[in-house]
Amino acid sequence: MGKVLIIGAGGVGTVVAHKVARLPEVFSEIMLASRTKAKCDEIAGKIGDPRIQTAAVDADNVPELTKLLESFKPDIVINVALPYQDLHIMDACLNAGVNYLDTANYEPIDEAKFEYSWQWAYQDRFKEAGLTAILGCGFDPGVTGIYTAYAAKHYFDEMHSLDIVDCNAGDHGKYFATNFNPEINIREITQNGRYFENGKWIETKPLEIHKPIDYPNIGDRESYVLYHEELESLTKNFPSLKRARFWMTFGQRYITALEVLQEVGLTSIKPINYQGMEIVPLQFLKAVLPDPGSLGVNYHGETSIGCQIRGIKDGKEQTYYVWNNCNHEDAYKDTGSQAVSYTTGVPAMIGAKMFLEGKWGGAGVFNVEEFDPDPFMADLNKYGLPWNERLNEPLPVEK
Ligand code: NDP
Repeated sequence: MGKVLIIGAGGVGTVVAHKVARLPEVFSEIMLASRTKAKCDEIAGKIGDPRIQTAAVDADNVPELTKLLESFKPDIVINVALPYQDLHIMDACLNAGVNYLDTANYEPIDEAKFEYSWQWAYQDRFKEAGLTAILGCGFDPGVTGIYTAYAAKHYFDEMHSLDIVDCNAGDHGKYFATNFNPEINIREITQNGRYFENGKWIETKPLEIHKPIDYPNIGDRESYVLYHEELESLTKNFPSLKRARFWMTFGQRYITALEVLQEVGLTSIKPINYQGMEIVPLQFLKAVLPDPGSLGVNYHGETSIGCQIRGIKDGKEQTYYVWNNCNHEDAYKDTGSQAVSYTTGVPAMIGAKMFLEGKWGGAGVFNVEEFDPDPFMADLNKYGLPWNERLNEPLPVEK
């Protein structure tokens, strides 16, 4: 039994709050805090559980957040605000002696660059404080790391290639919308691609490498090589990997719209002067795009995210594909959010549950693949993200 503080009341925060509230035997007390308290109250009202307290907090204000932590005294913080807040929330956790979990690695607001170095630099401080920080416990990063750890534990002596494949075959009926925070999403997609091969990172132009990949129950979808943060920790934690890539699907209309927005300068993060006011074009674009949390109502179709791995077991070549398909309509029925928020929020809840149940822990900063994957994999089946596996069949990514 433990107390949890959820920070962030967007699409993902909505899912985490719903899921946490259904497990009173694990999460005995719950607080949902965000910049806009009205959003927390709305979510708590929809869930209808009087145990959910709400609060307003600016997570970038470390003294203010420390005060909230010291008064509520949670056992763990689930950070589902934005990546810009990660370091401030980790600082406040250290001040107040609270454990930490997030779903996306730190990004500086003025530079579209994400890497673990900033958060790994907290290793000694969390160790000395005897606190646990769990990094990247959404789906990707998150479940993809746990799938890889599960494969390493049960199916391989050595893994040689890892392809993470992420397909959203859903249709929300809007001309152009992003499935999670538009600012974070567009920053991720418009930067150069990168993958790991033979000990080196190979850089590509944005969306330069692509091909159709066949996804279970969906079929062929054009998939693009992107840089994604879990590649950094997985290649470090599984050094036998000779190649690691991340693929994501995009429809042609999405790419064309994105190209136009980029060409006219609306995806830029460089501030400009507009009628005497400084604005960041990408933040303005976010303000006019649909709120990802509102996409769930008419969303049809499903997502399919998995890991395709080749390596060696008992001296023989082996392949393994493990994945989850998540239906947007089912996710919406369960929590009022679409599948992209759902596939992030459910693992964040399970990660906090693993910690409170003593199945995951230790002093320091950890990526999810460093923990035992087995109890987490069992809970994925229980709490809405069942997985499937294929052993020694041709890998769709290699076709
Ligand atoms: P949203 O933009 O929908 O929600 C973000 C929430 O954080 C909002 O409620 C926002 O408040 C709040 N917030 C922003 N800044 C602050 C602050 N300074 N202090 C307190 N609260 C703040 O994002 P999502 O729910 O879509 O995404 C949440 C996180 O999940 C992001 O970090 C995203 O990168 C990550 N993610 C991870 C995935 C994975 O698989 N690992 C996949 C998808 C998302 P307000 O409403 O006032 O703006």
